[in-house]
Amino acid sequence: MKLYHRRAPEGLDRRDDWRDFAACAGLGDLFLPRDERNASSAEQKRICAGCPVKTDCLNAAMKEEGSVDQFRRAGVRGGLTPTERAGLARYGYVPAPHPEEAKADAELSARQKAREQARQLLQEGRPDVEVAATTGLCRTTVGRIREGLGLPNSYHARTPQDAFNERAKPTGDGHMKWDGTNAVTINGRRYTASQLAFVVGYGREPDGSVMVTCGRLGCVDPSHLADQTMREQAKAVAA
Ligand code: SF4
Ligand SMILES: [Zn+2]
Repeated sequence: MKLYHRRAPEGLDRRDDWRDFAACAGLGDLFLPRDERNASSAEQKRICAGCPVKTDCLNAAMKEEGSVDQFRRAGVRGGLTPTERAGLARYGYVPAPHPEEAKADAELSARQKAREQARQLLQEGRPDVEVAATTGLCRTTVGRIREGLGLPNSYHARTPQDAFNERAKPTGDGHMKWDGTNAVTINGRRYTASQLAFVVGYGREPDGSVMVTCGRLGCVDPSHLADQTMREQAKAVAA
């Protein structure tokens, strides 16, 4: 028996407080007799039987003691003697994780899965913003994973088409709106949303300013945009 007469027995994980409710608190002499081989365990078992944290206690004991034999187990824990616990271990008893522990483990494994997915997507060349959205990880974490993989910064690796696909959203009534900040830098070149949409739509850099031709302020549908050259051509046709 671990001496549960104070909170937090040494060396044990303190994710919960079940030890605070141990029925054996203060009964170290009874639970850890000097000569355990000749001591009866009846009294300890009686106390354990009414202990509110018996399952937690047994789980902790089985976890700590692992598969060792009865001679390397001490005292009654969770209502069982060393011999009984050794027998339980031989039958493949797997300690149920404490609910708090199980929750923490589930969170950890979900995060590990997300990180693994992020690694795969980054290796496929997906941009950070997309990886973050898919995995639920933050951009900083995705950036760190990218760094760890020795991959170049997606900020520079992505194309105008990638940036456009990430940010331009259909409005549902025949136009497109820009979702996010109005400036994007690609390969060191800074584009406004409409310049970027123009490059994507016409395959060339715009000449002069890019203007919306559909009348919808901020529309980034490439076919609703015109640069200086296009405006002049339109004027010439109309003349
Ligand atoms: S089950 Fe027994 S040994 Fe474990 S905490 Fe309760 S009283 Fe103590
Ligand atoms: Zn439009």
